[in-house]
Amino acid sequence: MSAHRTVVRNGHVLTMDPALGDFPAGDVLIEDGEITAVAPSLPVTDAEVIDATGHLVVPGMIDTHRHTWQSLVRGICGDWTLADYYYGIRLGISPNYTADDVRLGNLYGAVDALSAGVTTLLDFSHCNNTPDHSDGAVNGLQEAGIRAAFCYGFFESSPGQSKFGGHADRVADFHRIADKYFAADGLLTLGVSLSELFGLPWADTAAELAAAREREALLVNHAGCIFGSVLCAGITEMDTLGLLGPDMVHVHCNAFDDSEWDAIARSGGKVSISVETELNMGFGRPVFDRCARHGIKPTLSADVVSLNSGDLWHELRFGLGCARADRLVPINLGGAMPDSVQITAREAFDWCTVNAADALGLGDRIGSLTPGKRADLLLIGGPALEQHPRVDPYATLVYQTTAADVRTVLIDGQVRKRDGVLTSVDLPALTSAADAASDRILGRVRAAGRALPGTPPNAWAGIETTAREFHEQAVQAGKNRGLPS
Ligand SMILES: [Zn+2]
Repeated sequence: MSAHRTVVRNGHVLTMDPALGDFPAGDVLIEDGEITAVAPSLPVTDAEVIDATGHLVVPGMIDTHRHTWQSLVRGICGDWTLADYYYGIRLGISPNYTADDVRLGNLYGAVDALSAGVTTLLDFSHCNNTPDHSDGAVNGLQEAGIRAAFCYGFFESSPGQSKFGGHADRVADFHRIADKYFAADGLLTLGVSLSELFGLPWADTAAELAAAREREALLVNHAGCIFGSVLCAGITEMDTLGLLGPDMVHVHCNAFDDSEWDAIARSGGKVSISVETELNMGFGRPVFDRCARHGIKPTLSADVVSLNSGDLWHELRFGLGCARADRLVPINLGGAMPDSVQITAREAFDWCTVNAADALGLGDRIGSLTPGKRADLLLIGGPALEQHPRVDPYATLVYQTTAADVRTVLIDGQVRKRDGVLTSVDLPALTSAADAASDRILGRVRAAGRALPGTPPNAWAGIETTAREFHEQAVQAGKNRGLPS
């Protein structure tokens, strides 16, 4: 059987592959979902043609951490702190999601992502309140047709009323999901969303790490995002116990000291920065500069889509401003002006393409328009004011582009959006379903008498006491193995 061939014709191709470079007028040939050639002009006659004249052709963006299920309550956290989020979303909203709400949230959030140019996302999935919820989360991603690392989370949103018998049952459910959906090679890859370090007994954390390694699954870890607490710390303890690795994506990392950064760098760990969440919820400065100092390539994530949009263009724009400010403000404070901005727009676009592909362990499959990789790509352009005139393509990408300027999206060679229209989604029906589900979820929250955000007084003090007990268990585990504490 002959291959299905598509040629993306006459675009301004930004491959993000330094060996290939850019083509101001170039073609991309796709055969059975794989990029097979990129050149100024390809003599192809027997292929479906996508005319990219006047458009930028770029790799699809990759989000390295998103709680996709929260798309049904988008914006609810607009004025919430991290504590408000924990009590409001993780313990308030989550228990009121049905399994079908999780499916719909993931479908809706994934469609939102791909429409805005995110062709791959790391789904940090922690609303797995029953096995049906876990199935719903995977099914929603499958329905959307997005490429995703589905990272199974073990979080208990209803302490004392769990639908699982215990943590071991959750680990068993992870293995059930792994067997059911991840045996074949496809758009979804398997991961584990580690429960917050010292938010649960050390033995449970060790079980989550072991389950992930048994399946050779990606590990994603909310890390170093709570100043003055041991909660979400644990890098030193994992390092001591030999549990860090290049298979881990550490998210946030704002509060880490140099020794923790050294441990992450030594282990080959990756870092995900959620610029909007961190700035708006009080996590501390985004860590672009610390990544640079420790030789770690930054990646970007939308994180809490119940606060900010699922549009990675905003993260990119905010992120570059923060990264430059880290370098330039000290010069200003020294009474001088900088000679250069130091980080270019092109370098910033690496954060959500090649760097992110590498972080997800998919660097050989996606992240650049390199022959041999899968065809996840975007056509950026169209009639909107901000796309004209285009003087510098990378400046247009980073500073001017919006989700509406993502005109055409291909994932694995399949057209998911064509000239501004989603191809496999009944959009009015989907938005209506999302509105109705959101009303029902919030109705159940109100019926349960739950105030949102409703953070109890001195909430962190109680959490911290428990976290220190679990931290001590990790220290003892190190001592029991004869390791230096
Ligand atoms: Zn998160």
